[in-house]
Amino acid sequence: MIRTKIVATMGPAVAEVATLLELFRAGVDICRLNFSHGTLDDHLLMLRKIREAAAMHDQPVGILGDLCGPKIRLGKVIEVEGKGGMPIEVGDELTLQRAPIDGANGVVSTIFPQMVDDVQIGHRVLIEDGLLRFICIEKNYNHLVLKCTDGGVLKSAKGINLPDTVVNTPAITEKDWRDADWAVENDLDYLALSFVRSAEDLSLLRQHLVNKVSDIHLIAKIEKPEAVRNIDAIIDNCDGLMVARGDLGVEMDVAQVPIIQKDLIRRCQLAGKPVIVATQMLQSMIEESSPTRAEVSDVANAIFDGTDAVMLSGETSVGKFPVQTVRTMAHIAEITEAYLATIPPKAEPQLTIKTLPLSAAMAKGVWQIVQDMELKLVCVWSQTGSTARLFSKYRMSVPIVALSSDHRALRRMALHYGVIPQEMPPPEHFNGLIAWVDNFVRGKKMAKTGDRIVIVAGLSMTAPGTVNNLVIQTVGEEVPKGDKDFPRLAHRMERG
Ligand code: PGA
Ligand code: MN
Repeated sequence: MIRTKIVATMGPAVAEVATLLELFRAGVDICRLNFSHGTLDDHLLMLRKIREAAAMHDQPVGILGDLCGPKIRLGKVIEVEGKGGMPIEVGDELTLQRAPIDGANGVVSTIFPQMVDDVQIGHRVLIEDGLLRFICIEKNYNHLVLKCTDGGVLKSAKGINLPDTVVNTPAITEKDWRDADWAVENDLDYLALSFVRSAEDLSLLRQHLVNKVSDIHLIAKIEKPEAVRNIDAIIDNCDGLMVARGDLGVEMDVAQVPIIQKDLIRRCQLAGKPVIVATQMLQSMIEESSPTRAEVSDVANAIFDGTDAVMLSGETSVGKFPVQTVRTMAHIAEITEAYLATIPPKAEPQLTIKTLPLSAAMAKGVWQIVQDMELKLVCVWSQTGSTARLFSKYRMSVPIVALSSDHRALRRMALHYGVIPQEMPPPEHFNGLIAWVDNFVRGKKMAKTGDRIVIVAGLSMTAPGTVNNLVIQTVGEEVPKGDKDFPRLAHRMERG
């Protein structure tokens, strides 16, 4: 089983229960529902299929809803006969007006009319991931005049990026609020917000979710220069990051993207939070049955950088080879991880978090034990998943089996590198936990009699992060019947 987690975007290419089950068996841990496409009814249909397939799979599958955020899009563009849209050539002028219009004859509008106020003369206006490029050369109250620097064909609803402009779009649109409510009603595990600019954007969403008594975890998609500038406050305010390289590579100099990727991963490591590397990882497999050498290197390098998860977008949602793409990704991870296991860590991983001090200290201690001893695995009782998350950040050379009785926590743990989520009824006492784990690891052939494993849990489980008990158990050895108290766990959901 690979440690790197795989996020797969859902779409028509994988809309059958049987295909989804194949995806899971090939290594998909998290399904991404992208609210940029389709209706909520479409997503509900897909969600039902995901859950049906997940019920047949032996590992928890998490579900991530991806909110569009304030993505500006072109309005409708009328197709010029036989051209697939409105052709624009270098040097052409395009009028982008405030009032909505069906785009024709060099005049278009957008779904965000106020952008006419925000864009200044000299600012770049990039359309369809920067395929078409313009510079604003003139503006008045009603419209902007843009001069084309890279031509192409303008098409309806294509995304617009404004790398030079501070845009006054609301951080969360009406559609996002509806989609967020839907995600809560349907018990999704993660909610990603696109085009995050500041920590406040996340607070706004968090407050709304708290009001709905939802503990859905928030992923901040880093795809704007403002987000990169405000990164520390953003990390403090979210439950994880996505390195959204698609828009990031348009909003910023694309040559900066690999550096930002490394920096974001390092910061998430320090903060003890999960990170996903996304977009174009195996892009050519949308059409082809094998990846380019560069793509293979990209997936491997994201793992070397220390990411928790790698993501597939079009490759699984609309690609011709969704299952094969996941298999390819899993295979790259397997080979990369096997290599990583042969090189001793240069230094002890660092975490700078101030919350969960017990779990953090335990994780650090267990990392040292794993260095010093021959161990098969680490087992940690982590009811809310917080302790599992910290253990994951130490990127131990053995698997971390994370136990919980909470299905939501187990599904969330599907995102954490090296963590194998496992359901377990709340133990009565610590010795009961040891006995259960001993039995379980032998049954699953994860360890055999005589192997050593580490088991970690808290004596008091009323709050997350109260982990204070550790044993090094020799598998198959009798567990003493001492009755250290292990109070029955309250099924409490608390955020750590
Ligand atoms: P998107 O986000 O696929 O929703 O645009 C990811 C990215 O921009 O890389
Ligand atoms: Mn994006």
